[in-house]
Amino acid sequence: MKLFAAMLSLSLFLLPGVPAWGTLLDDVEAKVLANQEEQIQAVKDIVKIESYNETTPGYSGPYPNPDAGVTEALDFALEKAEEMGFRVVKEPLYGYAEWGPEDAEEMVMVLGHLDTVAPGNPVLWDLGGPFEAKVVERDGEDHIIGRGTFDDKGPILSALYSLKALKDANVLLSRRVRIFFGTTEDYGGWRCVSAYAQKARAGEEEWPVLGFSPDSGSFQPTYIEKTSVNVRAYNKIDNDAADVKLTFLNGGTATNAVSDRCQVALQGPDHQLKAIKQAMQEAAAAEGWDLAALPIKFELNVDAGVLSVDVTGRAAHSGQAWAGVGANNRMMFLLSKAPVNADWQVVAEKLTRLAPPDENPDNMGAALGIQEGGIELDDIVTVNMGFARLESADVEPTIYNHLNIRYPDKGAELITGKSHQSGAEIKAKVEDKFKAARLEANVTGGGYPYTVPLDSEIIVKLQKAYKDATGKEVKPCITHGGTYASAWKNDIGFSMVAWGIDGGIGMHEANESLSIPKMIEGTKVMALAMAYLAPADEAPQPQPDDDARPHKSSSGGCDSLGLGTLALLGAVLVLRRR
Ligand SMILES: [Zn+2]
Repeated sequence: MKLFAAMLSLSLFLLPGVPAWGTLLDDVEAKVLANQEEQIQAVKDIVKIESYNETTPGYSGPYPNPDAGVTEALDFALEKAEEMGFRVVKEPLYGYAEWGPEDAEEMVMVLGHLDTVAPGNPVLWDLGGPFEAKVVERDGEDHIIGRGTFDDKGPILSALYSLKALKDANVLLSRRVRIFFGTTEDYGGWRCVSAYAQKARAGEEEWPVLGFSPDSGSFQPTYIEKTSVNVRAYNKIDNDAADVKLTFLNGGTATNAVSDRCQVALQGPDHQLKAIKQAMQEAAAAEGWDLAALPIKFELNVDAGVLSVDVTGRAAHSGQAWAGVGANNRMMFLLSKAPVNADWQVVAEKLTRLAPPDENPDNMGAALGIQEGGIELDDIVTVNMGFARLESADVEPTIYNHLNIRYPDKGAELITGKSHQSGAEIKAKVEDKFKAARLEANVTGGGYPYTVPLDSEIIVKLQKAYKDATGKEVKPCITHGGTYASAWKNDIGFSMVAWGIDGGIGMHEANESLSIPKMIEGTKVMALAMAYLAPADEAPQPQPDDDARPHKSSSGGCDSLGLGTLALLGAVLVLRRR
């Protein structure tokens, strides 16, 4: 760096009339600010285009083709990119804009999407309509209100303006930077990325060498994404042989969510149902559950001979199961306490032993022998019983339970320095436990989750870009799953991480918004990131007659210089871009 400073001042001294260049950050910042009004307008304009896939007319399959509005948003973004002078490609399911030396062998990808979730209940949008792009003050900053402002139209369009700032500042790049506009991220099974990947596998498209996805809601680079082991336990019960029959069991709405409700119906003689109700009430009281906040309702219909039990839980993401309260676990526990001779009671007892109603992070997974980590570093293994159901009640009654287990795998060693279980180990332990309990279960998953080493180029440079642009440090994080970046697993051989941008509120909710000052700051951060990921010091040295020469100003300042000074200038410029 010292050498560079010396050479720069030497060159300025030797070359009167040459513009006094600032740092890369100054150049980029100036261009981002020069374009900011246009950028704000562009984000507003694209937010006004209704682009969600959930209502594609006439489409009945599981995944829709992009809605006409999504395609319109794609056209809008690509048109902007073309106006900026970028190379543009449009396919039915995606499009991209690219800039950087056309003959550069490597490409860096910035992955985002232009489809959004549906606006939801319009009444809840009380700060501005979902497609109005109204600017209001929120938390002391001007925010653009609208669906997609934060997820993900605002961030990915900002990335386009980051690249424009680099182009406007004539920053020399060694790699091409490609901004990818997906069309089926929020709904549509990521078919956009699949379509691209399919082409890349056929050699008709290019894999990036590195990338980031500004679709995660924060500038913390995601370096580990947990993955899952899934247990589908199907256990037949003989209702005919039991005095009290299990006729209904239904809890949970998704495998990856903590169940907030579970309902059961038992049929049998009154005195037994009364005894069951009492045993359940006593068990709940003994556990010290907060029944005022999360009630359990009992309904004993003596005439019909039916006891109904309705357990309330608290929903949370499966990867944060410790933050919720599983209604399903509680229900299985209550069923296990029934003083009866019945298969369902035995199944409930066995399941409760393996997945007790206990959300204490220190105990999570302990019953399965897989407890590990904690919530501070988020290297914790979580266990969630997403479903508890009675299937084929009339023909072949079967209790179905789904367990979703999330783990960070060996990747967690990157932060803790301790050894961690692999997915395969977790899977094997869980299989053994179910086998030992004589419960029928199909255990799947156990793969190696998305992990990027902390000292890898992508993590180091993204952190540096953030620090240089904002003066603040940012720590990489672990997430419990599902970022767009993981659409391309790093087993393909490149590192793509979820990263950027700060300053949004309410992804997928009413009043979704993006702070304008944070958006502009984010544009700077991303521009620096692109410059660092495609560093000029790896670029060929500019030649005197090279059109790609950096800072070839419109006033022709560089063109009138002699050959020798140009060579020196080239060296200086290459150095100062480090
Ligand atoms: Zn998104």
